[in-house]
Amino acid sequence: MKKVAKYILEKIEELKPVLYLQGYRIKLLNQPLEAGEDFSMETEAEYPYRTKATITFWKKAVEKFETDREYFDDTILHELLHIVVAPLADVGEKYVHDRVLEVAEESVVDQLTVIIAELLNKIRILEGKR
Ligand SMILES: [Zn+2]
Repeated sequence: MKKVAKYILEKIEELKPVLYLQGYRIKLLNQPLEAGEDFSMETEAEYPYRTKATITFWKKAVEKFETDREYFDDTILHELLHIVVAPLADVGEKYVHDRVLEVAEESVVDQLTVIIAELLNKIRILEGKR
């Protein structure tokens, strides 16, 4: 578990400047999975202060760390993008049904994840890191 947490924290530090999140203090929590839960990671971004966020990871994320590192990396990127869209999610919560908002937010975050992951891959290829 410590190995996974260390890896996630390193990835967060690597991605912070890419996403202009240097001003954030990002806390990492590992939670035991309770019956009926099936989460991998979840992000809680403090808004409107925009200085703190908490990323929680569960057992399912640890399994992905071992079996699919690319997916795992993209999940970290995905969680950090929830911090980027937090202002919209905050406004949306006031006007839109929770579930409708969640679907729209996940769709936007997923698309941003693909765009940024692809750009990062191209940059790494150009820099000869892959
Ligand atoms: Zn998400």
